Amino acid sequence: MPTVIPAIVAPSATEALFTGSVERRDVGPKDVRIDIRWAGICHSDIHTVNGDWGPQHYPLTVGHEIVGAVAEVGSDVTKFAVGNRVGVGCLVNSCGECASCAAGEEQYCESGAIGTYGAKDVDGTITQGGYATSVVVTEDFVLRVPEAIPYEKAAPLLCAGITTYSPLRHWNAGPGKKVAVIGLGGLGHMAVKIAHAMGAEVTVLSRSDSKRDDALRLGADHYFATQDPETFRTLRNSFDLIINSVSAAIDLDAHLRLLALNGTMVNVGAPPEAMSVRAGTLIGRRRSFAGSNIGGIAETQEMLDFCAEHGIAPEVEITSADQVNDAWARVLASDVRYRFVIDIETLKV
Ligand code: NAP
Ligand code: ZN
Repeated sequence: MPTVIPAIVAPSATEALFTGSVERRDVGPKDVRIDIRWAGICHSDIHTVNGDWGPQHYPLTVGHEIVGAVAEVGSDVTKFAVGNRVGVGCLVNSCGECASCAAGEEQYCESGAIGTYGAKDVDGTITQGGYATSVVVTEDFVLRVPEAIPYEKAAPLLCAGITTYSPLRHWNAGPGKKVAVIGLGGLGHMAVKIAHAMGAEVTVLSRSDSKRDDALRLGADHYFATQDPETFRTLRNSFDLIINSVSAAIDLDAHLRLLALNGTMVNVGAPPEAMSVRAGTLIGRRRSFAGSNIGGIAETQEMLDFCAEHGIAPEVEITSADQVNDAWARVLASDVRYRFVIDIETLKV
């Protein structure tokens, strides 16, 4: 019999979130039940509920930056024990057999990895995310959260952390590399911290000057406001790698021209609108335009261990269950510094 638990629920694409409930399946032999303690708010939660990426099954509980303690393990679980500090990110299952899964890149599963919310699960139900008091997940999709990472700051690493770590690793950010980050939000501020820790020279491209002091404190070497047209003249042909974390459409050509010869811009931002690129912008300096989707489970564990080792954690604002609608409004206004985390204890009372 499924268990009914408290959760923050989106009733539709247009109505406010409310505190309601969601069902969780019984713990199967390979499952882990996690008592959720903290849940991050990702802009993807908002895109999804708003229907930016297509129609959804409502009511829907979102949240894919989940941290808590193991409360129960199935009979065949070998990796986790009750009490372990663990996390769950954007994925809760995949086929396990295709070339991508075999390579540890479950996010590119050829049958389609199962997302933490809004996806069709193996039992035919729709997955429900982490704005809730517990979750049941097969152990292969559960991460260990090192003790060195402050508990209330760990959740955003499960999406914002891995989504920026993965392309920075794939495109070899490191000493001697000039990396720019467009958009200083949840993903962007993690990109700055991680690229800095990898040894790259980091530039932040934010719309206005308002986040300059923060960016430099977070580890950026340089900061430019994209509202100033002079920025695009000064920085032309400068960067080896640009991570675009903006949640809205931007002028891609203008930003791509900031890439040096052979440079790559990786789009991790996922705006609802299409964006166009002039072929000549790429041709002129053998530039590449790429995308990157979160990261696999093994790489997510590697990222968590990297963050623990380098003392990296997001800057968070703690919010409560009854304030989530306000928190979403502030994310949409780019007003969060730099990731909201829901105190799930406030959902239990
Ligand atoms: P966020 O915290 O809202 O940050 C987005 C940043 O984009 C803002 O802080 C702002 O930076 C900039 N921005 C917002 N609106 C803009 C506009 N109209 N024009 C120019 N810049 C604008 O969002 P997030 O949680 O980091 O997510 C960012 C995007 O990544 C979302 O689209 C999300 O869905 C996507 N995402 C993708 C993946 C993936 O696997 N690829 C994973 C997670 C999230 P400034 O104030 O500095 O200008
Ligand atoms: Zn996310």
